[in-house]
Amino acid sequence: MGITENLFEIRERMAVAARKAGRDPACVKLVAVSKTFPVEAIRGAYVAGQRRFGENKVRELAFKAAALPADIEWHLIGHLQSNKAKTALETAAYLHAADSVKLLQRLDRLAGELGRAPEILLEINISGEESKFGVDPESARELTVTAAECRNIRLAGLMTMAPFDASESELHFIFGSLRRLRDALQAESGLELPELSMGMSGDFEIAIAEGATLVRIGTSIFGGR
Ligand SMILES: *Cc1c(COP(=O)(O)O)cnc(C)c1O
Repeated sequence: MGITENLFEIRERMAVAARKAGRDPACVKLVAVSKTFPVEAIRGAYVAGQRRFGENKVRELAFKAAALPADIEWHLIGHLQSNKAKTALETAAYLHAADSVKLLQRLDRLAGELGRAPEILLEINISGEESKFGVDPESARELTVTAAECRNIRLAGLMTMAPFDASESELHFIFGSLRRLRDALQAESGLELPELSMGMSGDFEIAIAEGATLVRIGTSIFGGR
């Protein structure tokens, strides 16, 4: 199947999952993860109406953004190194994987200098296992306090990645935990944290059942990497 058919099918499955959970399908947005795929593949998805794309490397994101239409909303979904923060801010509207106080402060300062107002998500490591990236729920509280003091960046919500071998019940637990953590942080900080970035090709329906607002889907749209 081609990219257009894949996109159509994914949007349909997203809508079914949302309705099944009693949610408005319009509240779940698709980030088409185009990492490693060429500009032409992204153009194919663009022609099929897709405007929100995700990349996990800053340099690749900047290169593709320069080659593609300006009305694309770019999401940096991968870990962000502090020395690439400026380039990331110049291209991405959403940064999904903030994970330190220092990085938040740097992003805030640079966003002010560049006249940018990025949406930031904190990457949370819910399962506390091997994954190198993401903070534990306790550190998320500290990061939320820092974000509340920032003037140029907006903390929009939380992001997580489930382990590849998680069972269905573990996935429900992980995604449900991210939602509960968001609810708690929202109540404690008074910030509005509308976004929950969770769910990939293999698990997005469960993520939607647990409240995902941004699903990050690559393989099921563009094929295997
Ligand atoms: C690659 C990637 C995805 C997409 O994964 P697929 O299984 O190809 O859908 C989602 N989120 C992050 C952070 C990724 O790096």
